[in-house]
Amino acid sequence: MISKPTKPEFEVLIVWLILNGKVEKALELLAEHYSVDVPKIKVGLPKGRKKRALGCYNAKKGIIFVLNSDTLKEPFIILHEFYHHLRTALDSKHRGTEKYADEFAKDFIQAYKSTAAKASGNDQ
Ligand SMILES: [Zn+2]
Repeated sequence: MISKPTKPEFEVLIVWLILNGKVEKALELLAEHYSVDVPKIKVGLPKGRKKRALGCYNAKKGIIFVLNSDTLKEPFIILHEFYHHLRTALDSKHRGTEKYADEFAKDFIQAYKSTAAKASGNDQ
């Protein structure tokens, strides 16, 4: 049995996977970690979305939509949308606020940045 990674290690891994084009693996691990279904991910936003949106989540279909293939490698967008998926899975009435989705995503990216800083000797 493989022991679960500690939280910062897990967060670093998820961000690394997304940055390296392994978004499906990242979503699989996130879903497993939070005990929810793995969300689907599709490139191209559904029609009728605001032009400036980079991603959105369809709660009925359980699909994360991203603007383009570059957005697939944006940890902030992927994690923000995963948060909506997570909240919907836990409580179908609430997708969570944008503020909490941003905070959820920032937490992962912060863990990644501080680990990167330590590795490069810039930890202060
Ligand atoms: Zn959102």
